[in-house]
Parts: sequence; structure tokens; C-alpha cells
Amino acid sequence: MKYYSTHNQSPVVDFKTAATSGQAPDKGLYFPEQIPVLPESFFREIAAMSREELAFRVIAPYVGDTIPPAELHRIVEETVNFDFPLVQVSDRIFSLELFHGPTLAFKDVGARFMSRCLGYFSRGRIGKVYVLVATSGDTGGAVADGFHNVEGVEVVILYPSGKVSSVQEKQLTTLGGNIQALEVAGSFDDCQRMVKQAFADSEVNQKLFLTSANSINVARWLSQQFYYFFAWQQWPFKDQPPVIAVPSGNFGNLCAGLVAHRSGLPAKQFIAACNANDVVPEYFRSGEYHPQPAKPTLSNAMDVGAPSNFVRMLELFGRRFDSLKALISSYSVSDEETKQTLLRVKQRYGYLTDPHGAVAFAAAEKHLSRHPADRVIFLETAHPIKFYDVVEPLIGETIAMPESVKRTVAREKKSVPIDKDYASLRAFLLALE
Ligand SMILES: *Cc1c(COP(=O)(O)O)cnc(C)c1O
Repeated sequence: MKYYSTHNQSPVVDFKTAATSGQAPDKGLYFPEQIPVLPESFFREIAAMSREELAFRVIAPYVGDTIPPAELHRIVEETVNFDFPLVQVSDRIFSLELFHGPTLAFKDVGARFMSRCLGYFSRGRIGKVYVLVATSGDTGGAVADGFHNVEGVEVVILYPSGKVSSVQEKQLTTLGGNIQALEVAGSFDDCQRMVKQAFADSEVNQKLFLTSANSINVARWLSQQFYYFFAWQQWPFKDQPPVIAVPSGNFGNLCAGLVAHRSGLPAKQFIAACNANDVVPEYFRSGEYHPQPAKPTLSNAMDVGAPSNFVRMLELFGRRFDSLKALISSYSVSDEETKQTLLRVKQRYGYLTDPHGAVAFAAAEKHLSRHPADRVIFLETAHPIKFYDVVEPLIGETIAMPESVKRTVAREKKSVPIDKDYASLRAFLLALE
């Protein structure tokens, strides 16, 4: 498999180069030359397949010969070694729980796969690989955990000060070792912009071998397909493919679902569920795309005003608005609706969502009010405990804290405060080592 840049000004590369460089030299995003179609036998055998076997068969064509099969088996086995249960919540709505991994969010999947691929690729390299990543909350923890103690890799995480939850902050600031956290006096978009500037800075790149761990990285992006297939494995209505509602910020997760669908995953439709950051719902309404500054909301991991994977969504559909609209619908959900939904789902169905899941649940209900015969799976992307600051006052109860979270919260935060101008990041990077 080869990957081209969405800007078409860089040479095509293999998986190893795409995964280790993150972004293409022309600043485009890497995109696979073909989307493989899974054979019918895959879907016939899927019910009996182990998670590892399924994940291996999905990802192997994308990796090509850059990782030997035995090694790739080990990598996917370590990537999906926790549960992905599909839980019925209401008559028509099901939750795909993606929060049973080490940092309690779906980003564990992409981060674990990517860190292990980079670990493999960095073997025998002289000099370290520096992973530079901006986080709106959950990426930081998942990347920190995924890469912690991976030899030959140093991780630098930028996060917006005061705009991530306290559990999230502890997850990304307390591991130490090869993980460093920069606390930026600004928004997630500032962090993302600074990271992009660093990748474009030739002096920094001469000194350090930089790579990105954001969802623009193909290793993170494409491995997120796994759990869409796990959902289908568990889906009880094989004659009625589900509508899939994805709480979206940078749109990496949704784009992975769209790729899975292109490979044959049965799905009737996708719902792009957004909070008040509604550039994509607006695009689906008007056909015009206008990035905006990010607005802070209760579902902070989706506070993105210029979603980086939007271009991949266009690319998948050959930039044809009509085909996009035929498969995807999009809703924006306010903080007020998010709170009401979270509380109502808890009271009526006895199911506790996190604020991101609540956005997707609300979007699922909006869809069902127009298509009452459909059945919807929403992706529950994080455990509610990660957002206990929001959830507990709302439901008037404390959420039982898993042991792993207790240990994380008790650890001491270590971060380096920096300004939101690129010069501060540059100075930090040039002083490394
Ligand atoms: C990152 C994140 C999202 C958004 O995912 P994208 O791939 O950026 O669209 C949604 N929910 C949670 C809990 C997240 O951490």
C-alpha cells in the first residue's frame, strides 16, 4: 500500500514513512492509494473471529511489507487486549463502549497501535524519535500511556491550560520518564497551530527527528477501524445495518468508520455528532466550509474549530458533496441539550454516559425522530469518570472511581508552562538534549 499527500505535491510513500513522518512534506495529509475491499468470507467468518485476528486482517493491507506478519500480530494483540462491549441502552439505541482501555478513552486504540509501530520502526535507528502532539484532552493521556517507556521515543505533549479535566491533566502530566507535558496559555487550536509550525520549521527538524501522534497520523487513524468491525460482530440485527453516531472533533474517528464502510462494513448511515463547534454541521447544511475559532464546551475533547481530518472526509468522496450527504448527516448539540440528555438517559435507562457520549446520544435521538424505524449505535468514547467535574454535579451522585484512576489522580502533576506563541515552543524544542 502506498500513501499520497492530499496536497499532491509530495512523493508517494509506504506505511513506514507515512507513520514515522506524520504529515507529508507539502503539509498535506497522507491518504491510502486504494481502500481495500474485504472479501465476503471475512464477513461470513467474522462471528467466530478473535479480536486480534479481525484487527490483523483489517490492517494488514495498509501496513504492507513494512512490518513482518508475526510482528504485526503481536502489535495488534497488544492494541486490542481489552473489551469493546456493545450495550443496549434504549429500544433503538446501543452504546459501543470504547472506554475499557488503560486511559479510559477510545484514543487508547490508535495510540497503542501507533506507539508499537513506531517502537518497531525505531529499532536499530541511531538517535531518538520525538513525538510532538497537541491534545484537547484525551489524546495526551492515551499517547503518554501508549509511548511510556517505549525505547528510542521521546514524547512532548502540548495541552491548553485549564481546558482539560483534572483526570485528563493527571494522565498526561504524571508519568515522567520519556513523557513531557507543555501547559499552553491558550486554546487547543493554539496548541495544534504551534505543533504545525514546529513541523514546518527546518532548523527544528534538522536537529530533531519529529513525528506527530495526532489523528492525522495514518497509524492512529486507520487502526480506529477495528472497533467498528467489533460492533458489527456483536450487532444482533444482521438484516438491518445500524446507523452509527460518532461524537466528533477532529473527525479522525468518523473518518476511520467511513474507511471501514468503504471496505465493506455494513452501516446504513453515519451521524457526525458535534457540540457547539458546528463547522461541519454547517457544512452539511450549506455546502460551505468555514473554520472558526474553537468554543469551549462540556465535551472539551471535541472543541475543535478547524477539524484536521475534514480534508480526508472530502477525499474519501472525491470531493462530491452529494455523495457525502447521502451517507452522513450531522447535528450540533448545545451544552444545555448535552446536560439534559445525560441526566435523562441516566434516569430513564439507568445508563451513565460521559458528555461526549451524551452529544452522540442526543444526535441519535434527533435522527430517530425523523427515521423512527432505524437502529443507532453511538460511540461512547470515554468513561464518565474522566469528566467527573461535569458529570457528578449534574447527576447529584459520585461515580465510583476505578483503581487505576485513583492511582493516577494521586500522582504529582509535572508540566512546563509556556505561552501560546510559537517562539516559546521553538525555544523549548531547540533546548532539548
Ligand atoms: C478525541 C475525542 C473525541 C473526538 O474524536 P475525533 O477523532 O477528534 O473526532 C470524542 N470523544 C472523546 C472522549 C475524545 O477524547
